[in-house]
Amino acid sequence: MVRQEVLERSMAEGEYISFDDVLVKPGYSELAPTEPDVSGRFSRSIRLKMPVVSAAMDTVTEERMAKEMALFGAIGVLHRNLTAERQAEMVRSVRRSGNIVFDPVVVEEDMAVDEIYEKATRLGFQTFPVVRKGRLVGLITGRGLRLAKLSGRGRTAGDIMEKDLVTVPPGTPMEEALDRMHSHRVKKLLVVEGEKLVGLITLKDYEKRLRFPDATRDEEGRLKVAAAVGILPNDRKRVELLCRAGVNALVVDSSHGHSSAVIKTVKVLKREFDIEVVAGNVTDGDGAVALAEAGADGIKVGIGPGSACTTRQVTGAGMPQLSAVYLARKGLEKEGLEVPVIADGGIKGSGDIVKAMVAGADSVMVGSLLAATDAAPGEEVIYGGRKYKSYRGMASPSALGSRAGYGRAPEGVEGLVPYAGRVHEVLALLKGGMKSGFAHVGAGNLKELREKAVLIRASSIKEGQSLPVVMDRKPSKGYNV
Ligand code: IMP
Repeated sequence: MVRQEVLERSMAEGEYISFDDVLVKPGYSELAPTEPDVSGRFSRSIRLKMPVVSAAMDTVTEERMAKEMALFGAIGVLHRNLTAERQAEMVRSVRRSGNIVFDPVVVEEDMAVDEIYEKATRLGFQTFPVVRKGRLVGLITGRGLRLAKLSGRGRTAGDIMEKDLVTVPPGTPMEEALDRMHSHRVKKLLVVEGEKLVGLITLKDYEKRLRFPDATRDEEGRLKVAAAVGILPNDRKRVELLCRAGVNALVVDSSHGHSSAVIKTVKVLKREFDIEVVAGNVTDGDGAVALAEAGADGIKVGIGPGSACTTRQVTGAGMPQLSAVYLARKGLEKEGLEVPVIADGGIKGSGDIVKAMVAGADSVMVGSLLAATDAAPGEEVIYGGRKYKSYRGMASPSALGSRAGYGRAPEGVEGLVPYAGRVHEVLALLKGGMKSGFAHVGAGNLKELREKAVLIRASSIKEGQSLPVVMDRKPSKGYNV
């Protein structure tokens, strides 16, 4: 059972608190700062080695971010400010990647070289199995395609494809596949069942598997991904397309989850679709329990803490985030509901993640910290001689677009975040910080953290970080990625 006296006492006096009001009291430890296992959960069945979720925002999570998150052991929620078809296509793209490329993109034997080249540029890869009436007949490699394009030799896929195909049946163990690549001196194997092409194994994907042992994958090795949906019945088509594309979880995305519309949506989704459903956002035990009883497999908590959020100013409503997480967790525990809590919004660094987990979160959802990285959609912007990326609330005037206007007041703003470099570097720093935070109370994992960590009121939180001039520089090397 989660219990923190600081939160209990402050709430008894009608005072609700957040990250900057508390610290985790250091305690005896036998652990090195790199030792703890910080894994958590996104939903009942989705475990995360890195319990961070990228926000369903159009400046944060599209397919590139979702892939990078899953590779690192985290997960992304694809935003819904786009057509259902395009969102489903992103799901397919993430689900195709993993140990092997499932359902690879193919070209017809008579497709023109220029057209294939253009397709390769658009998709960002150059290997295409070639088919004639659905039957596999060849393989176009990056080398073959580039040579054909530059030399002007060969007109169609059939002219430039390799015809000596090295194939393996589905389910071939990776080690065996690697042996086969070695003996044929090739970097790619086609996975074929009968005459049907079902996948593609590339050396690069194999290397990735070794580099990212913590990746969030299913049993087949495919990367996992979640996607945001709105309320039913309006968003039924989106739900159907996403499920067909193989999404691992749907996130019912609402700024007010403790509402009849969201509760009903969760019920219908759980009744009619075989899919994990995360729902939110709520700020207390009643809201969390209502969604969990409707069948939600994960509860998202937070109204107003987001860095691009103006809900509190616009509506007057909101709840300091640490108290909100605590209340949601306590409410669920009281009813015996074993559903993960995701703390959504207001995370400024790894310290806040540790605090959220002490208060009862199983993972956190992050917007601005990830919008600042290379994997977020959107261009880098130079402003005043510094590099930034744009970031906007999904209820900001520009994101609402034509939906803004009479009766719908914006509850978000748009701005810039200082560019932070590669997403895996940022995630590695967050993970390192979290591990060190766990070690400060001698906690080897989340369960021990909840048992051992004590939150204390911290009116002198400002006493750290008092160096008068701070240089904004990263360590020169040694990220553990
Ligand atoms: P951040 O990590 O502090 O930037 O917060 C990200 C979270 O802010 C998201 O996951 C959403 O829950 C929330 N959010 C996104 N857009 C808006 C908005 O326009 N208004 C209010 N909250 C928002």
